[in-house]
Amino acid sequence: MLVARDQAGQLVSLTNRPDQQTIQKIRSSSQFCPSCRQPVILKAGAVKIPHFAHKQLEGCQPFSEGESERHLKGKADLHSWISRTHQVEAEAYLPEISQRPDLLVDRKVAIEYQCSFLSAALFTARTQGYQENEFFPFWIYGGPPIKRQGRFYQFSTFHRLFFQYSPLFGFWFLAYCPNREQFTLYSQLIPLTSSLYSASLQTIPLTSLSYPPHFAQPPASVLFSLSDWFKQKERWLQQKLYFQQGLYDPFFSAVYKTGHHPSLLPLCIGVPVRFMALIKNHPIEWQFYLWNDLLIHEEKVEEREAAAAIENRIKKGELQLNVFPVLSTPTITDLMKEYLAFWELAGKAEKEAGQTTFGQMEREKGFIKEFEELLMHRLIF
Ligand SMILES: [Zn+2]
Repeated sequence: MLVARDQAGQLVSLTNRPDQQTIQKIRSSSQFCPSCRQPVILKAGAVKIPHFAHKQLEGCQPFSEGESERHLKGKADLHSWISRTHQVEAEAYLPEISQRPDLLVDRKVAIEYQCSFLSAALFTARTQGYQENEFFPFWIYGGPPIKRQGRFYQFSTFHRLFFQYSPLFGFWFLAYCPNREQFTLYSQLIPLTSSLYSASLQTIPLTSLSYPPHFAQPPASVLFSLSDWFKQKERWLQQKLYFQQGLYDPFFSAVYKTGHHPSLLPLCIGVPVRFMALIKNHPIEWQFYLWNDLLIHEEKVEEREAAAAIENRIKKGELQLNVFPVLSTPTITDLMKEYLAFWELAGKAEKEAGQTTFGQMEREKGFIKEFEELLMHRLIF
């Protein structure tokens, strides 16, 4: 922690990089944890930046995680950055919700600089705690770098909790690295599978930004082609067939029941559409269910009807939503609107499914020629 209390109950803060003299002064008196009131000691060695630590770490909830150097340094960096222009408190306690954000800006914005894993349940509970009490939660990722896989990036379930959305940036994710003292903004995040995303990247040194940060909009571009998409889709199907023994998987067994093969479905089932990140499953799964439940039976399907069909499949456990605690929009209805618009243009015209793998590949070529521009253009926000 960066803030403790002295014997008189006054706050003693280390956020402004104390000099040796101040450190000596703090050392010569006693400090206590503002949360559990147990004695703490000042640690100012060669490795970590100066911070307070419990003499005995037992029974202290807010500080039980044991702070890493990365977390301490990141919190101190962000504190000095924001304090240039705004009023900011480190580790301020909010009694109405019993929460202690890393930083509280203007008594309004609660910044959580999260370096270690947090469950979706805790992440959501903390976010709601802030929102229900009119604080504005702002989560910044501080963990290990996002892994690359070729041209794409791997965002785990934990990473995805940080996702935000805006019409300018699409889905976006903000990370801060205290070693390099820079932010990395991943925007226009578009999934190819549940954890593999294409993204536009911007790295910005802390010193060249002011608070609140304003990032330039990246040039609108989709960083994969429809043929990349089909390749990834087929790879995903093959892996799933191999590992999940086809028949026992609810999606595969539903496909087989209709007399189709998952690799030979109509090409309008399993296309990339805007907002598809909302559903954790591959688009081929939910688009197949929509087709099976509504589209093959009805001439005109409304967004709400489609959203209800998806919710029904979620209730049965056949589909899962991604957990985005910070997001209130877009919604499943927005996603359905996107897909149904495409279906109106292309799906109705597609008469039948493929018969052979070779035939399907030929059909894909024609499909790409006809619809690539439309599909890819609509992915961007
Ligand atoms: Zn404590």
